Amino acid sequence: MLTNVNFMNRSDTTATNYLKILGTAGARFVVAHQLRSSAGTYIHWKGTQLILDPGPGTLVRCAKSRPPIDVEKLDAVILTHSHIDHSTDVNVLLDAMTSGGLKKRGALFAPRDCLEGENAVVLSYLHQCVEKITVLEARQDYHWQDIRFTTSPRHDHPVETYGIIFDFEGRKVSFLVDTQYFPELLDSYRHSEILILNVVRFKPHPSGEVKHLCVDDVKTILNELRPQKAILTHFGMTMLRARPHEVAQQLSRETGVPVVAASDGMTVALDSIS
Ligand SMILES: [Zn+2]
Repeated sequence: MLTNVNFMNRSDTTATNYLKILGTAGARFVVAHQLRSSAGTYIHWKGTQLILDPGPGTLVRCAKSRPPIDVEKLDAVILTHSHIDHSTDVNVLLDAMTSGGLKKRGALFAPRDCLEGENAVVLSYLHQCVEKITVLEARQDYHWQDIRFTTSPRHDHPVETYGIIFDFEGRKVSFLVDTQYFPELLDSYRHSEILILNVVRFKPHPSGEVKHLCVDDVKTILNELRPQKAILTHFGMTMLRARPHEVAQQLSRETGVPVVAASDGMTVALDSIS
């Protein structure tokens, strides 16, 4: 129920189960100039801690977070794809999580091309340090300690990419990450309590070759899926110029779905009913 998944004040540290969107930058210019942070998302659920898509600056944002996020205590890292704004800090996080390889612990989940081939983003020596490496595939169920998730169909994006649908004791919190819109995308994301969407562009790129969502795509998705709450993030320059919170308000009015624009460090409580 919506009442059980509340947005928290940034300084509210009483919730034990929460996610924190450390960064909301999405495209090259915004990342290069750090107009928004390009750090990933931290998830804390029943004692399991993971980072999703550790883009540039994730390590720094963890250290500066209040309370600090101790990367040596991470239990897992998930990469949705190998693009640089999603994966740059993966090696330093794996190194910290395993105490430089002295402790074989933690898990890494990633598509195969993050791990093998000429554009692999995970250093090969770190493969031996992590307790378990799992290659992500489409529409599969995964778990590590207390965290369970399912992957989406393969997204329409230049590299192998999967969205992540977390199952927090029956409540779905979904990360619909980089992709061009296509109708078959939607099925995996149905019944999401919270749907977090990477919305890089305000309008489609004139070339038609930029495989990212724009605001009209989000409107289509929200009208179809009708999550209890939607969060926009991963903004490119055209989105920042359009003011994400105004875009969110407009989408809320047009779809009837409550929509908010993420800000760097925004926290979402995930506490269960009991
Ligand atoms: Zn990408």
